Amino acid sequence: APILLEVRNLKKHFPIKRGWFSRTVGYVRAVDGVSFFVREGETLGLVGESGCGKTTTGRLVLRAMPPTEGDIWFRDREQGRVNIPAIDSSALKRLRRNMQMIFQDPYSSLNPRMTLLEIVGEPLLVHGVAKGVELKDRVAEMLRVVGLRTEYMNRYPHAFSGGQRQRIGIARALALNPQLIVCDEPVSALDVSIQAQILNLLQDLQQQFRLTYLFVAHDLSVVEHISDRIAVMYVGKIVESAPTPRLYTMPRHPYTEALLSAVPKPDPRRRTTPIVLEGEVADPAHPPPGCAFHPRCRYRIERCAVETPELREIAPDHFVSCHRAEELALQGVAPLTRAL
Ligand code: SF4
Repeated sequence: APILLEVRNLKKHFPIKRGWFSRTVGYVRAVDGVSFFVREGETLGLVGESGCGKTTTGRLVLRAMPPTEGDIWFRDREQGRVNIPAIDSSALKRLRRNMQMIFQDPYSSLNPRMTLLEIVGEPLLVHGVAKGVELKDRVAEMLRVVGLRTEYMNRYPHAFSGGQRQRIGIARALALNPQLIVCDEPVSALDVSIQAQILNLLQDLQQQFRLTYLFVAHDLSVVEHISDRIAVMYVGKIVESAPTPRLYTMPRHPYTEALLSAVPKPDPRRRTTPIVLEGEVADPAHPPPGCAFHPRCRYRIERCAVETPELREIAPDHFVSCHRAEELALQGVAPLTRAL
């Protein structure tokens, strides 16, 4: 499939201001040179601990804020290939039809004073796509598609459970028939029993509408089922990315190995020895020199504290930034034998 989204050397540095005159005393390097691509119809999982820059990356893609540096190329259905940070506001408005977001918290992301009709219909109104009866029909269709009854249209979000609210958020994101959806931890606020339902729904919708997902998650437990490829972030950078089965069975970065060891695995054949990472996630205002992971890495050598490893392609579609990627025999996880 052709590439839909291509991010190149993306950076977002937030100034740290101090004192009466708001002098800039430093920068938080939230996103610090991130490159990746997503093919049409696939899901890229973007994974890392809080503060690693994954959510900021998702917001930059949707141009919720401007980047400090870098390009975000998107193959827009109507406008052709555009560089998102460089387009003007009218092109951005048209682009917004084709890129939507599903938020983490279905409780706070829906306006409590709006009915389902208003919530799901709002994007259609704003973009002048439908109104009146046509709008109502489209909202009814969207509610059906996400598994909600159309009679709910005049109710308010408080009448619904967490899982149902997330379905409302998904219906809203789908209303304009977008090409790309950034899913910002869409199941992490939900009960485990509901998580699988929402993930299955997202997968069905992807097939049905040929959607492309950038799926942001804080650990590797939910992305295995939904992602074609996974990119692991640490302190503003991608440290490893690979097709999902390969990343699980053959991790090449010590950080990925540690994240994998922490994933709960109901299947006993997939159990691994847990690796406890020492120390805290590095502070993106003061990233350690060399490899940012070196203070916590049990495989570090002298070189790691001095020289920053580049992200290199060590096999087709498998990228790693570690000086020792080839020589280490890291512990992976046996492939999935059955679905959830
Ligand atoms: Fe560990 Fe060195 Fe590889 Fe960084 S470069 S992950 S410190 S072995």
